[in-house]
Amino acid sequence: MTLSQRITDKRDDLIRLTQDLIRIPTLNPPGENYREICDFLDKRLTKHGFQTQLIRAHGTPGDSETYPRWNIVARRDGAQTGECVHFNSHTDVVEVGQGWTFDPFGGAVADGKIYGRGACDMKGGLAASIIAAEAFIEEHPNFQGAIEISGTADEESGGYGGVAYLAEQGFFDPNKVQHVIIPEPLQKDRICLGHRGGWWAEIETKGEIAHGSMPFLGDCAVRHMGAVLAEFETKLYPAMAARFTEMPVVPEGARQSTMNINSIHGGQKEQTDDFTGLPAHCVPDSCRIVIDRRYLVEETLDQVRDEVKALLEGLRETRPDFEYELTELNSVIPSMTDKSAPVVETVAKAIEDVMGKPPTYVASPGSYDQKHIDRIGKLKNCIAYGPGLLELAHKPDEYIGIDDMVDSAKVMGAALETLLLPKG
Ligand SMILES: [Zn+2]
Repeated sequence: MTLSQRITDKRDDLIRLTQDLIRIPTLNPPGENYREICDFLDKRLTKHGFQTQLIRAHGTPGDSETYPRWNIVARRDGAQTGECVHFNSHTDVVEVGQGWTFDPFGGAVADGKIYGRGACDMKGGLAASIIAAEAFIEEHPNFQGAIEISGTADEESGGYGGVAYLAEQGFFDPNKVQHVIIPEPLQKDRICLGHRGGWWAEIETKGEIAHGSMPFLGDCAVRHMGAVLAEFETKLYPAMAARFTEMPVVPEGARQSTMNINSIHGGQKEQTDDFTGLPAHCVPDSCRIVIDRRYLVEETLDQVRDEVKALLEGLRETRPDFEYELTELNSVIPSMTDKSAPVVETVAKAIEDVMGKPPTYVASPGSYDQKHIDRIGKLKNCIAYGPGLLELAHKPDEYIGIDDMVDSAKVMGAALETLLLPKG
């Protein structure tokens, strides 16, 4: 038999496995049923000869006795030593939202698709990698090296209780793990090399409160913020729009530097809808915005930060009494794996063999757990490759195509054959 035939024969098993995973509602936030899904994976993978470890990310954001951050790492060693290929999937899913016609945790099958929250992002990818590994082990029981499969928490909220924690514990040490494939829904014929960086900050402008009828006696923080926004419009946005990346980011609009102004608030607190009173007459002494700046692999975090600071400092010179405070909220480094990296070349060849055409290379506008594997683990040989359409992630009636899962399992299996069988 061939590995491809074995995977074809496991189609029903793959469907059931995906349904079972969808039926464990691992909603994040708050982080429900992480232990349950780890126990489920533990049972499944132990049966197929994997050694498993359940690891709780104690003390990470959100970890509590009610919502413990559980992760699983399963490993199957071959008959001989060799390289280790690691498949990493996050087990958490985002909230359901409105507009579903299917039960979000039912795992219904219709028209060759499996429906449910997390079907494409990314329980279908997790199931495909498990089937690929199991079929590979059956076909080649004497393989060399090792296969690891991890199911990790909290990717949807930054990955600190998942991959970041495991990376800190040494699970992504390049001496132990040589190749990482993250089966995020990037489509079965595309290889995702990495993602842009991000920098989140709050800017507060300060003023002085006074009576609204005599604003000249105070100092309006909202007008100061208006000046900040004007600087952004006239200087920062044109500068960002002129920067293009070599990264193959999709969609194309994200090949530039971008910045979203996430929120703005100044002056009196907004009242609840049932409040029927009128506002008091005050000059606002504070105005705050949150910015969400996404940056390119060609930029550095220092440049991104300094560019905004320089504009703010410039306003100090031109506006009397301009005062501000900048508070960093979070940052993520961009990550891009080289096209000539072994895992990229291996999966590219596997896609060509299975799908009959060369892959498309892409990068993600937002980030995923590759950042932690790169920055904390210092492991560069990492890609995202998996079935499903990114556009469906987080949407109502999210689904995964069954044929897509089978095909991408074949690609993963073919990649294992290249990496874990004796050459020649
Ligand atoms: Zn995901």
